[in-house]
Amino acid sequence: MIPGSFAYHRPTSVSEAVSLLNELGEDARAIAGGHSLIPMMKLRLATPEHLVDLAGLKDLKGIRADGGDIVIGAMTTQHEVIGSDLLGAKLPILREASLQIADPQVRYVGTLGGNVANGDPGNDMPAVMMCLGAAYDVAGKAGNRRINARDFYQGAYFTALEPGEIVTAIRIPAPPAGHGYAYEKLKRKIGDYATAAAAVVLTMNGGRIATCSIGLTNVAETPLWAEEAGKILAGSALDAATVKKAVAAAEAITSPASDRRGTPRYRTKMAGVMLARALARAKARARA
Ligand SMILES: Cc1cc2nc3c(=O)[nH]c(=O)nc-3n(C[C@H](O)[C@H](O)[C@H](O)COP(=O)(O)OP(=O)(O)OC[C@H]3O[C@@H](n4cnc5c(N)ncnc54)[C@H](O)[C@@H]3O)c2cc1C
Repeated sequence: MIPGSFAYHRPTSVSEAVSLLNELGEDARAIAGGHSLIPMMKLRLATPEHLVDLAGLKDLKGIRADGGDIVIGAMTTQHEVIGSDLLGAKLPILREASLQIADPQVRYVGTLGGNVANGDPGNDMPAVMMCLGAAYDVAGKAGNRRINARDFYQGAYFTALEPGEIVTAIRIPAPPAGHGYAYEKLKRKIGDYATAAAAVVLTMNGGRIATCSIGLTNVAETPLWAEEAGKILAGSALDAATVKKAVAAAEAITSPASDRRGTPRYRTKMAGVMLARALARAKARARA
């Protein structure tokens, strides 16, 4: 289908973009890579009268270290995430997860900011960001603020962003050198959204799990941080009985929709299978 008509705006600064979004009100939407928004417009599930393109905002580009944090501009594409040496060294889970998003054509234009701000439970990056304890820098007419990824997602397509606010950057505390990580995603075919997926970041000490953080994708209305499951694993050697308990705790917080990817029961079980696989792979990669 063809989208409805809209006016196109191309601001060149964050303040101009924020002013435009606030002046134009609820008829306006920010557009980044357009690879979630334009399909919605074609289906007439979104009918904005104004599109405010963030592509001209140079401040929203770039990947840099800031003390112990890594800061990624919201307009950084998924392709740029995959190619970044800094991210490859400090946050390799981002490369692993990005490579499982869609296909190269989508990743050339789809942005990290769009992926985390969209609010679609099928997006892969939100659960990874919850797993990593990331925060989103946000600009709005009232000024700038920072929102933890774990507090950001409130329902399907419903986030903590106020009208007229944009995500400017994603700030991630770099896990310690030698951490283990994995993103396991079950999908029906290349380019599909997850039936279920699990992100794991852990550290080991003397053959035992020192810390473990887990995020789950597309098994509830929002991405999930499986805090209790991570706590169960801390102190263990990742033995089968403890993994089983942690998997059960993670499965217990899911409430997936029934869709063409499977029944709720199947998708919950697949979340558990993805988690067990991610734990094993993360442990194998970790250095004590
Ligand atoms: C065929 C196909 C397959 C796909 N498969 C996957 C997949 O497997 N996994 C996955 O995670 N994604 C998938 N996607 C989505 C893709 O990764 C999108 O690029 C991404 O979800 C949104 O990023 P975008 O830059 O395209 O955002 P846009 O489509 O431009 O925007 C999406 C939404 O976020 C808002 N927004 C964008 N940027 C900001 C910002 N900086 N601040 C505030 N709001 C903002 C927009 O207003 C809009 O509501 C797929 C897309 C396609 C077309």
